Amino acid sequence: MSDCLFCKIIAGDIPSVSVYEDEQIFVFKDINPVAEVHILAVPKKHIKSLDEQTKEDADLLGYMMGKLPELAQSQGLADGFRTIINTGPGGGQEVDHLHIHIMGGSKLPGFT
Ligand code: 5GP
Ligand code: ZN
Repeated sequence: MSDCLFCKIIAGDIPSVSVYEDEQIFVFKDINPVAEVHILAVPKKHIKSLDEQTKEDADLLGYMMGKLPELAQSQGLADGFRTIINTGPGGGQEVDHLHIHIMGGSKLPGFT
């Protein structure tokens, strides 16, 4: 997906502040944080959104879910965190590469 912002970030073509990376996922700081801690976990495989997942993605998506507590704790969120996945225009998704928002600390916003 040569035209995808997050694919370019994963490839290192656009700079980001990375906090974790392995064979399957890339995790980096949101450029416009809405909480003290606000990071984005993305699969290295380009999946447009939850609406576009296939059965072959089940292990990858399960892996990402399993990683969330470790990622949150690595950012100092010892007593809990919030995750959000926006899907499609109706869900407020702005970047068309599936991503999980991980947020916590002070200034944690509500849903307004
Ligand atoms: P969405 O609304 O699609 O769920 O969230 C997209 C997120 O990506 C937003 O929170 C936005 O701040 C973040 N974002 C957009 N462009 C960039 C960028 O170039 N670098 C980083 N690190 N985050 C970005
Ligand atoms: Zn992509």
